[in-house]
Amino acid sequence: MLEKAQEERNKEKAHETQHLRQVDHSRLPKVSFTTCEPEEILERGDSNLNTSYSRPENHYIRYNEPTEEELYETVEYDMDEMDRAWLDMYNQEKKKDHRTDVTSFLFESIMDRLEKEWYCLIQGVSGPSTEDVILPEDSACAVCDDTEVENSNAIVFCDGCNVAVHQDCYGIPYIPEGQWLCKKCQIAPNESVSCIFCPNKDGAFKQTTDDLWAHLLCAIWIPEVRLKNTVYMEPIDYVDKVPKGRWRLTCCICKKRQGACIQCDNKHCFSAFHVTCAKAAGLSMKMKLQTTQNGGIILNAYCDKHTPREYEESNEENEYQIVQSGQS
Ligand SMILES: [Zn+2]
Ligand SMILES: [Zn+2]
Ligand SMILES: [Zn+2]
Ligand SMILES: [Zn+2]
Ligand SMILES: [Zn+2]
Repeated sequence: MLEKAQEERNKEKAHETQHLRQVDHSRLPKVSFTTCEPEEILERGDSNLNTSYSRPENHYIRYNEPTEEELYETVEYDMDEMDRAWLDMYNQEKKKDHRTDVTSFLFESIMDRLEKEWYCLIQGVSGPSTEDVILPEDSACAVCDDTEVENSNAIVFCDGCNVAVHQDCYGIPYIPEGQWLCKKCQIAPNESVSCIFCPNKDGAFKQTTDDLWAHLLCAIWIPEVRLKNTVYMEPIDYVDKVPKGRWRLTCCICKKRQGACIQCDNKHCFSAFHVTCAKAAGLSMKMKLQTTQNGGIILNAYCDKHTPREYEESNEENEYQIVQSGQS
């Protein structure tokens, strides 16, 4: 048994090295660097670079964070290769008029000044500060409508459309470093997409197995519809299982007969509404994260008239509920 495992591992190793050998080195990005002439270093004022430095032994080096004023006076801008290419071109042009070159130090000083002046300028402009931009209702998850966050279940904002979703609700097991884009902004950044189940345009979208678009919220609430992968909460599957009758219902909130509606959970009530319309109108929609026999989530939605008393009473502390607003 042990031998077998060892053999497997050897095989894997061999496979890995094989794989390494197959890498086409001509396709790897080329390393590029610029060699500075000593004059240039002096010109930039980095005179320290010329004297070798030896670290004193048995001493700690303390780094003092420079103050705002100190930073304001120092040239922080560092040219990159794009700047250098531009400056070379610019200097070529100037040569034709027999004018002197703009040195890299002058270029960096100008850029530094421009950036700092610009920063000061926009600081003074009255307008929404970054904190004001995110209003409390915008930071609620577009799927569960809750604002609560936990370490492993943060609310993530899309860098394209600013939609807010919980990691668990939208299926983001790992938050990427840098920007995060929702599915819609990844796949159709410049288009407005429409949900196959409802007429509303905002919210958190996912694709169906046929590459159509739908709100994740609509997909979760329409009973016949399932998510193929519940870790990534996509793609939306079993759309063809939605009965014809559901596609024919008229929403009592937006009065449109479009897409597919859900109905009041009261057995004697036939009120139908789009999932997103119900959410916007503040109808009672309860999502019990209690698993049923077949592993689903128990969902109950009620029209205005049939909201059970205990729902209204437990509104304050219940996590998965939309507060009744009395609109019909
Ligand atoms: Zn959520
Ligand atoms: Zn987005
Ligand atoms: Zn929808
Ligand atoms: Zn509607
Ligand atoms: Zn009802």
